[in-house]
Amino acid sequence: MLPKHHIILGAIFSALLYWLFSLTIFQTLLVFLSSILIDFDHYLWYVARKKDWDLKNSYNYLEKLSKNLKKPIMMVFHTIEFLILVFILSFFWRGFYFALIGMIFHSILDLLYFGHKNMLYVREFSLIRHLVLREKYPNKYF
Ligand SMILES: [Zn+2]
Repeated sequence: MLPKHHIILGAIFSALLYWLFSLTIFQTLLVFLSSILIDFDHYLWYVARKKDWDLKNSYNYLEKLSKNLKKPIMMVFHTIEFLILVFILSFFWRGFYFALIGMIFHSILDLLYFGHKNMLYVREFSLIRHLVLREKYPNKYF
C-alpha cells in the first residue's frame, strides 16, 4: 500500500478514535504517526542492504522490488514479535498502547492489501520464523 493511502486512512482512523473514545490530541497523534512511521523499517531495510541513505532512492527501489517480489521479505516493525514488544512496553509507558493501536491498524491494512492482490507470500510476519527459515533455506529468503 502506498504511503499516501496509509496517511489518509491513518488520519481517518485516528480522527474516528479521537471522536469515539475522546482521546487526547497527543494520544491521537501517537495513533496517527505510528500508523505511518511503522513503514520506516522499509527504509532501514534498504539502507542496510544498499548502504544508501537517500530516501527517494529507497522509495523507488522498494516500489520496483514490490512488483517483482518472489521471496518473502521481512520488515522488522511489521512482525508479530515487534508488536508484542510494543505491547509489553505499553505496561511501562501508556503512549506505547496508542502506538500499538496505530501499528495494528497499519498491519491490518497491509494484510488486506496483500490479501486482495494475492501477494501475502511477499511478507514475513514472524521474525523468529524468518531467522529459522533463512538459515535453513538461504536462497528462498531475503
Ligand atoms: Zn506497512
